[in-house]
Amino acid sequence: MPAVMADPLTLPRLPHLPETGTGWRRVAKVVTAQRHLEGEGFQVRRPFPGVDLPLADPFLLLDQMGEVEYAPGEAKGTPWHPHRGFETVTYMLEGTFQHQDTTGGGGVIADGATQWMTAGAGIQHIEQPPPELVTKGGLFHGVQLWVNLPRSQKWVPPRYQDIEARDVKLLAAEDGASLVRVIAGSVAGYEGPGVTYTPITYLHATVAPGAQLKLPWPQDFNALVYSLAGRGTAGVEEVAVGDGRLAVFGGSHHKGDTDGLVVRAADSQALANKHGWEILILGGLPIREPIARYGPFVMNTRDEIIQAFEDFQAGRMGTIPAEKVPHLSAADEALD
Ligand code: MN
Repeated sequence: MPAVMADPLTLPRLPHLPETGTGWRRVAKVVTAQRHLEGEGFQVRRPFPGVDLPLADPFLLLDQMGEVEYAPGEAKGTPWHPHRGFETVTYMLEGTFQHQDTTGGGGVIADGATQWMTAGAGIQHIEQPPPELVTKGGLFHGVQLWVNLPRSQKWVPPRYQDIEARDVKLLAAEDGASLVRVIAGSVAGYEGPGVTYTPITYLHATVAPGAQLKLPWPQDFNALVYSLAGRGTAGVEEVAVGDGRLAVFGGSHHKGDTDGLVVRAADSQALANKHGWEILILGGLPIREPIARYGPFVMNTRDEIIQAFEDFQAGRMGTIPAEKVPHLSAADEALD
């Protein structure tokens, strides 16, 4: 799992957090990702939703795509489909995804890059493996995260941010053993490249076997740790978190000057995870508004969902460009 690799010894280090005086967050529960078929039939592991998870607010969905070694002809994507009311964030750890949208945007996301799409008022897009991956097969591993927008920002104009692998802020754990990639938000004052409407922090860490990773965490943010590959524990109470499992943190044990998150990688990891335990660490400021959600639309009320369908059918979420990828189906099949 390469994503962006670097020698942690060359990087800025996270600060020391004292054992006492830090408000270490407790693990509230551990959730197992469910397998789903998405788009034209590619498998994802989805830790949320699937269970009611207000503790994940402002995050709506997390899909781990792969890791998979596609045989020739096997790679699949999504047809054209709309979104309104939130943001989709696609982080490619390995392999390539290509996208195109109804604002004229498009490109390739590969090996450690992130595409941040604010659907806002409405957009249509398509997400596909590139033709050479379909023809030849190959490795594919990515993550798509949905970040909600508050009522006041659901109607912002759609926008894209293409975050290249080299833009990701790299940090080392306090002991220099583990690598932290800041994709969005900040940790200990180190800012990642992603610009967000809803305040969040989004990190990918490779925790060295047997090592502990401690992070200062905003007191008003929730906190989630998802195991992409490998195993370890979360919290000072060392709750086991295996492959494809999500640790949901609650409040802290003691009130501290600052809150902290702690995870520890198991001493031994599978051979495939030779760099260590691969985890996503994410959190944000809960929006705490009612959610009305149907397929690709996430609004506050049922009426707004009905309006979204009407606007989509009336062509008010953009027009699919003429030079579309050939095998893509009509947009009205695409409400998945
Ligand atoms: Mn989509």
